[in-house]
Amino acid sequence: MKKIAMKTPLVEMDGDEMTRILWKMIKDELLLPFVDLKTEYYDLGLPERERTRDKVTVESAEATKKYGVAVKCATITPNRQRVEEYHLSEMWKSPNGTIRAILDGTVFRAPILLDAVRPAVRNWKKPITIARHAYGDIYKATEYRVPCPGKAELVFTDENGAETFRQTVYDFECPGVLQGSFNKDSSIRSFAHSCFRYALQTKQDLWFSSKDTISKQYDQTFKLIFQEIYDNDYREAFEKAGITYFYTLIDDAVARVIRSEGGFIWACKNYDGDVMSDMVSTAFGSLAMMTSVLVSPDGKFEYEAAHGTVTKHYYRYLKGEQTSTNPMATIYAWSGALRKRGELDGLSDLMAFADKLEEACIDTLQAGTMTKDLVSLVTPGTQVREVNSLDFIRAIRKNLESKLA
Ligand code: NAP
Ligand code: MG
Repeated sequence: MKKIAMKTPLVEMDGDEMTRILWKMIKDELLLPFVDLKTEYYDLGLPERERTRDKVTVESAEATKKYGVAVKCATITPNRQRVEEYHLSEMWKSPNGTIRAILDGTVFRAPILLDAVRPAVRNWKKPITIARHAYGDIYKATEYRVPCPGKAELVFTDENGAETFRQTVYDFECPGVLQGSFNKDSSIRSFAHSCFRYALQTKQDLWFSSKDTISKQYDQTFKLIFQEIYDNDYREAFEKAGITYFYTLIDDAVARVIRSEGGFIWACKNYDGDVMSDMVSTAFGSLAMMTSVLVSPDGKFEYEAAHGTVTKHYYRYLKGEQTSTNPMATIYAWSGALRKRGELDGLSDLMAFADKLEEACIDTLQAGTMTKDLVSLVTPGTQVREVNSLDFIRAIRKNLESKLA
């Protein structure tokens, strides 16, 4: 069989632990036999980040800016225990955080749906994609306990040293708590552009929610910036694509989401996105079936799985056990990246390959061959065959071969 050709290289970011093992299996079994794979390889595995003093992470993000499409394996974000385990000279920052900051991107998370795994919300029939604004608000807030009665004020001094605002927050008559949070127009703008772009790219409606009735400056700013950018830059394209932009209060959004059948993007402020993405992913079934893509406001894409490096499975693997770790989200990271690369380079073969790879995965699961995590989630009565990761990937390969023949 003639291998499918590529033009521009994909930025390939390798990672850690069990997902690094899956990464190689996926390449060996599902990609290299069929695609003349062109990648620019960056090893974001923790030992290489240590060796390069984390330069490799920055370089991989710069390469993504240059080429436009990346695929990333899950990576360890070091904590104290990891510093000891890997003999690190520093507690290196989260690679995802570093890449996100360089690309100024927004993360979109969407579940892979299966007929045999029913969402906890019965009427959900299509994926709900959550976009979280991962900057500012309580995550960068200043806060402290107020120890005694006294006056709390919000003061703003401009760059020339002139006091522009002074407002009483509260006259404390007893101890309490105080918090100052912020966001930046530039960051909200980037967030909005990423959301509108991704909605157009995936031809899905975009919802955005906040609490502007209560927060008349802070949340109102988010609402106004989204509306302005929509009117100026995207309204026409949305109308042409037959999709809509819809703003509503967060409470109303929650009610509508539960009553909906899915199939849209829900853009959330930082805290809302943090909480709602966990709720939505749990309600759809499994973290192992959740895909994730980072989209920059100028249209660069980095595809990955939403889960981590599955450490517990890796320790078992090191003892020589065969683990039944689910590679679906990592395979979809590859198919998503290859499809995007194909689209940008005008390679219809490559796009068709990505579709077939995903179909082969779904067919394998629908036929009942699956990893352990899914076995407990399928509707009772479904015929299942629990397999290890390699056998699962080989079963997908068989289906893929017949689709490509
Ligand atoms: P995790 O790797 O997502 O795994 C948590 C648990 O979820 C696993 O122990 C497993 O449950 C289940 N699970 C997750 N993915 C699975 C899969 N593909 N197949 C089957 N089961 C799966 O989260 P973690 O253990 O909290 O974090 C491990 C490391 O990953 C940490 O060092 C963290 O820094 C890193 N991390 C990286 C990213 C990223 O790069 N995007 C994201 C999150 C975490 P059972 O053990 O019950 O089978
Ligand atoms: Mg969370």
